[in-house]
Amino acid sequence: MPATSHDEPIRPQSLDQFVGQDDVRSNLKVYLSAALKRGQHLDHTILYGNPGLGKTTMARILAAELGVNIVCTSGPVLERSADLAAILTNLGRLDVLFIDEIHRMPPSVEEILYPALEDFKLDLILGQGPGARTVQIDLEPFTLVGATTRIGLLTSPLRDRFGVICRLDFYSPDELAAIVERSARILGISLSSDGALEIGKRSRGTPRIANRLLRRVHDFALVGRKTRVDAQVAKQALKRMDVDPLGLDLMDRKILECIISQFSGGPVGVKTLAVACSEEVRTLEDIYEPYLIQCGFLKRTPRGRVATPRAYEHLRLTLSGPALLPLDNPDY
Ligand code: ADP
Repeated sequence: MPATSHDEPIRPQSLDQFVGQDDVRSNLKVYLSAALKRGQHLDHTILYGNPGLGKTTMARILAAELGVNIVCTSGPVLERSADLAAILTNLGRLDVLFIDEIHRMPPSVEEILYPALEDFKLDLILGQGPGARTVQIDLEPFTLVGATTRIGLLTSPLRDRFGVICRLDFYSPDELAAIVERSARILGISLSSDGALEIGKRSRGTPRIANRLLRRVHDFALVGRKTRVDAQVAKQALKRMDVDPLGLDLMDRKILECIISQFSGGPVGVKTLAVACSEEVRTLEDIYEPYLIQCGFLKRTPRGRVATPRAYEHLRLTLSGPALLPLDNPDY
């Protein structure tokens, strides 16, 4: 998912500024320097992982490190094969083509991509009916960087054409603290290290959320006439935003509460759960469930979603709202 333009100043520009994902970064460094040494294009690369983990950022960094242009588009935007053909024929030598949500590209568009990826050739059909003929156009060598939240939805012919496959994982609280400390420096926000860690712990392992929480916590600090965002300021602001000590928000808690109170803890099918929570199935699956599963609050089973004992424990602490919280819970 491309970040909005106000994210541009804080978006890392080089591999060294990119925090975390150490294995991915060090492998990509090797592939990049090999490509540069050979003077050839980088192999086609697929980046997969949850929204906001840095796929678009990494694609831009790859282009910057290669010293080439990047052209960005996304699967759902490419409705007709002519749309992709126009982009491909305009690519310069060794350029990077970034296709976000590549699993949502229509099959007809995907098909013209195969020869382009393999042989840098484009097969175009001119005319219609018996008079139609195929012409082949040579393309400049380029690198396709695809991003997806659902690697499993990629067709196998497409997946097989990527030489580099990288999975981006959730970030640790310390890594997220480092990310918001960097963003705070760029945005001129005074942030203490315990304040950064408090935001890092509550950001669902996701840099985009960490940066968003930093801005909102700073809003609370400004209006409350606090010159510095420290742990206390961050905790109070995050509590006002209904972000709990583990980073769960109202919707996360609603999902767990729904499974527990309306479906006796599960199993419940995802479609039923989506209706009960008034949410889209895809949003549940892509945005909410991965983090709940990562925290050990939710299990996906063949018969449906199940709330774990940890979820019961966590909700007892927070569901009744701050008034009923144990007074000895200093985190909340
Ligand atoms: P995705 O494409 O995976 O949805 P983005 O690349 O748009 O995610 O990242 C969202 C925001 O998070 C970016 O604006 C960027 O500033 C920040 N970000 C992502 N990954 C990192 C990282 N590893 N280090 C620092 N900031 C990051």
